[in-house]
Amino acid sequence: MTMMTPKHWNRVLIAAIALLTTWLLVLLTPVHDLLRLTGLFNSSVPAESINPPVDPDTGYYLEELGEGAWFVSGWSHNAMFVVTDESVVVLDAPPSLGEAYVDAIREVTDKPVSHLIYSHAHTDHIGRADLFPEATVVAHALTAEALEARKDPRRRAPDITFEGRHSLTVGGVSIELAYHGPAHGPGNIAVYLPQQKVLSMIDVAFPKWVPVHEFAIAEDIDAYFAVYDHLLAYDFDHFVGGHANVGDRQDVQDQLDYALDVRESARAAAGNAPVQDIGKILAWTPNPYVTANFGFERMTAECEAPVVDRWDDRLGGVDVFTHSHCRRMVFQAITE
Ligand SMILES: [Zn+2]
Repeated sequence: MTMMTPKHWNRVLIAAIALLTTWLLVLLTPVHDLLRLTGLFNSSVPAESINPPVDPDTGYYLEELGEGAWFVSGWSHNAMFVVTDESVVVLDAPPSLGEAYVDAIREVTDKPVSHLIYSHAHTDHIGRADLFPEATVVAHALTAEALEARKDPRRRAPDITFEGRHSLTVGGVSIELAYHGPAHGPGNIAVYLPQQKVLSMIDVAFPKWVPVHEFAIAEDIDAYFAVYDHLLAYDFDHFVGGHANVGDRQDVQDQLDYALDVRESARAAAGNAPVQDIGKILAWTPNPYVTANFGFERMTAECEAPVVDRWDDRLGGVDVFTHSHCRRMVFQAITE
């Protein structure tokens, strides 16, 4: 048996210090962020959640939804267009798709783009409206109002605005636009193609994934929940949500069920730790925000754990964004 001599102990000590220093560096520097970015520490994404295979050469993925309606997806955003007997009607113009969107349309048809519908005012969905300079722009009046304030030359003012509902018939294709409240933000509309049974509502339901941060930064959380009743009342087979995959009715139902689960879990967590009790503790601390935040984080964690357990193998990104949804709903629960 070899005995450890003092010389050996020195080496062990140096190795231990080196290991500790490395770990400190990993924890304290951007290397830690880089490691997290690999996703190696996250749970795997369900196979059916994998996003559409964007062609790296063209920068888009194209899928026909039926009778001239097409789903087009880039790396992060998606949209749709419908080819009618006369022309093309496009929904949105995401900058992340950019000119690839025009290429995708040209892969299918040479017809001119006659109409551009704005789903809502956000630049990540309509910031390249200038790619369709000849098109008549249709949007909700609140979207027009928001754009008026932005003064972005790439998102020109709509030519046609409406408040409740608006219908278009272009080259024999019916397109029904409806405002069901500020689910994601003021003026975001549902776009429905009844012949093709295609429904679109951007930034509300993310087929086969959870919404991104805080229910996709929903401005009015009650309106976010309320819009699902309207969406599920449509007769549709395909759903275009602006991100992730093209979905169907079940995907919209799953998203609602997930959101309801978060809400119930947040209410339970908030009920277990009444704000009044947190208030009593705050009185004893020099920086009450630290204690308050600790309390909110405890409630958030209590909301998050069971939801992640129930949904992790059903939707993508449950492990990433359930925390933010729970935190938002905890605040909602203690104020509603
Ligand atoms: Zn948006």
